[in-house]
Amino acid sequence: MTTYSRDTQPGKKADNTALLLVKIRQLLTLHSASTGPRRGRDLGDLGLIEDAAVLCVGGNIVSVGKGKDALRDSWIRKNRNNIREIDCTGKVVLPGFVDSHTHPAFTAPRLVDFEKRIAGATYEQIAAAGGGIRSSVEGVRKATRAALAEHVLAGFNAMLAQGTTTVEAKSGYGLSLEAELKSLEAIGDAARQWPGTVVPTLLGAHVVPREYEGREEKYVRIVCNEMIPRAAAGKLARFVDVFRERGACSPESTEHIFFAAREQGLGVRAHVCQLSHCEIAPLLKYDPASLDHMDHVADDDIAALAAQSVLSPPYQTVATLVPGANHFLGLGRFPDARKLIDSGVPVALATDYNPGTSPIASMPFVLSLACTQMKMTPAETIAAATINGAHALRLAERKGSIEPGKDADLAIFDVADYREIPYWMAGSRCAAVIVAGVQT
Ligand SMILES: [Zn+2]
Repeated sequence: MTTYSRDTQPGKKADNTALLLVKIRQLLTLHSASTGPRRGRDLGDLGLIEDAAVLCVGGNIVSVGKGKDALRDSWIRKNRNNIREIDCTGKVVLPGFVDSHTHPAFTAPRLVDFEKRIAGATYEQIAAAGGGIRSSVEGVRKATRAALAEHVLAGFNAMLAQGTTTVEAKSGYGLSLEAELKSLEAIGDAARQWPGTVVPTLLGAHVVPREYEGREEKYVRIVCNEMIPRAAAGKLARFVDVFRERGACSPESTEHIFFAAREQGLGVRAHVCQLSHCEIAPLLKYDPASLDHMDHVADDDIAALAAQSVLSPPYQTVATLVPGANHFLGLGRFPDARKLIDSGVPVALATDYNPGTSPIASMPFVLSLACTQMKMTPAETIAAATINGAHALRLAERKGSIEPGKDADLAIFDVADYREIPYWMAGSRCAAVIVAGVQT
């Protein structure tokens, strides 16, 4: 399984020194007695400990507890001089955000589209006029792998500064065998230079490129028979994604691609119901890790997703909501998060970082939107952006909560109450980030 992390990249060693965070005003452990992604009422349970301490050794979390108990620990007392201490007085510590849906492999912002949209053009009108996804393709095809990697790395660093330590990164602006593989290689190059963990995803089926207009089947054959096998053989991707939408990928093509991905041992995920309704129940037999957007999802499909989510791992499908895209597009509507959560569907939040519809690298801003526009509680947004994001990437054994044995990926916020993280809208209160036990 391709993931760029300290376990798989020799250059990404964790620091062997010990790190002790003390006097934490609120520690959000996200610990829960139940396994699997958080659903229903459990989504609001942050496992909060006041006046807490966390000990990290060798990149892992070793112990978590009340400050006084931790300081009585005999190992800590004996090794006090070799432990680096961070005083978190008055601060909130939580797991580093897991941004489970991003498109960082692009070379330029889409400013013409931005102005056209302000002037009233719709997503589909912009695409029909040569804008949209296809307008990013030229830049990616022309870019060298090194130049593209620099753009990807700039995106990762912007995310890290706001508390994100694990990122899913899609290709999808190359739309040819060569340019999609180059995009995945650039994601790998950037990942090796970045301290956090990166999960690469092949999104060759983002849209049908211009040269295959009207010949979707032929392009889908290239995705299935060339891109997916090459990405799998080169260990360049862990997942395959499909943009299932009118004007993008048909239901039949989506299933062909999912089948091909599974044959090659890759996981699947999809963009669904962003602009129009599509049936998602037929996709569940491929055990997608996540179905994303969900703006126009039908009640029957919500019920099917909720039923799917009570199965044991790894068969759980998370619904990933990306309200930044709705906000940036000025759609005036958002996915019905309350209905999904109250129906028992596990919900994650992600930025959908991309040049056309969501140039947003900040998870705290996405949390703010989820509170104000989708009526999620601050606690629900934090669980959706950490432990459920980890489930959406099938990484929950290592990521998404602060528990002994898990990776020491933590975000320290300069706020006295966790509710301030989404409250201080569009400002950064992230004071420090710890990745694999090392302060970045
Ligand atoms: Zn997307």
